[in-house]
Amino acid sequence: MRCKAVTALCRTVLCLCATLVRAQQPAPQEAAKTPPDPIATLASGLSLERYKATIKSLTQFGDRVQGTDRNRAAVDWIEAQLKSYGCTNTERLHYDYQPPAPPATPAPPRPVPQVFGLGGSRFRGPRTPDPPPNTDPMKQPDVKLRELNSGASTPGPREEVFCTKIGATHPDEMYIVSAHMDGRGWGEAANDDGSGTALVMELARIFSLPEVQTERSIRFALWNNEESGHQGARTYVAQRKDLQGKESPAGSGQYPEPKWLGMIQHDMMLFDHGMPGKDGSVSKEQRPEADINIEYQASSKFAGAALLLAGKFQLANEKYAADYPANIGPHMTNTDSDAFQDLIPAISLREAERGAQMGNNWDPHHHQPTDLYANFTDDDFRLGLNAAQTTLGAVAELAGVKVGSSPVSRSEP
Ligand SMILES: [Zn+2]
Repeated sequence: MRCKAVTALCRTVLCLCATLVRAQQPAPQEAAKTPPDPIATLASGLSLERYKATIKSLTQFGDRVQGTDRNRAAVDWIEAQLKSYGCTNTERLHYDYQPPAPPATPAPPRPVPQVFGLGGSRFRGPRTPDPPPNTDPMKQPDVKLRELNSGASTPGPREEVFCTKIGATHPDEMYIVSAHMDGRGWGEAANDDGSGTALVMELARIFSLPEVQTERSIRFALWNNEESGHQGARTYVAQRKDLQGKESPAGSGQYPEPKWLGMIQHDMMLFDHGMPGKDGSVSKEQRPEADINIEYQASSKFAGAALLLAGKFQLANEKYAADYPANIGPHMTNTDSDAFQDLIPAISLREAERGAQMGNNWDPHHHQPTDLYANFTDDDFRLGLNAAQTTLGAVAELAGVKVGSSPVSRSEP
């Protein structure tokens, strides 16, 4: 008798437990209702191998110095690639570049700043100044590469290319996602700025997939003449800032220059091996705690809005970047986004802070003949890929993305 009663009680308790467990689990049809995150789906289209292959392809044009045949060939190649990705509405900005005459007497060597650097940054640790850009061909030991880089820059006409994902419901507003395609230093400009150019091209490819729709427009721009003083980006601003948001022709629903909502520049995305040691040497390995540095300029007119924009990128990094975090700093400087910072919220993404870290020679390949594809490892390339995941995630949210029949994913700008 006693035995049977215990068994019956056990059965009741077991039955009750099972009911409770079932009650806590979503019903199968409920679980099926949670739609997949369309942005995660998009981000999964990025791959380390594709990103590396695009950088490698850019290095076929050597250091891509502005005003040379190799630079013009690179612009042609980038445009053909963008079209092949489905970003078919490519346009070119035309301008003339006349380099300033060299000073009559050479400038005295710059004093080594001890405390404050470019953009209002503050140096920490031992001082190891960033050397001047290399201009000596003989510092490139690879004869073939030296030959490829040997054509000199000539003054005159310049071109740069961009293409645009047209917004489905707000074609009159856009985000600008950019990098500079020119380089210098007698290497391959693999990191500066093949890494940023490849990132922008990869994003153009993903956002141009036929199943992807965005509410707002996104322009993918590859500036020229960054290394000579940002003339490509500055000319774009000068030529087009007053065209923003104007429908042309009237009634056509077309906006040649949608209103600028934000500008995001990518420049040197691969190398974060940490602070140089007291002897000036830099670690051979990517540091495990490497990060993407999102910078805005605290002294710019749109500092507050740019900081908010940077915050959205940091959150997108946490959601979509697989390996490396992002940190925000207030000293954006020496990059194409400078031209936009007093007109709209503008930020830049980099491997290190431009003022205090690059300025303290954290990247010994900067503008040197050693900026070669072969000098970076997968741990380096992965930092650039994570920056691509970060920008893709943030811009997809900001522009309001929809993939296939997925709901629109967005946060209001
Ligand atoms: Zn650069």
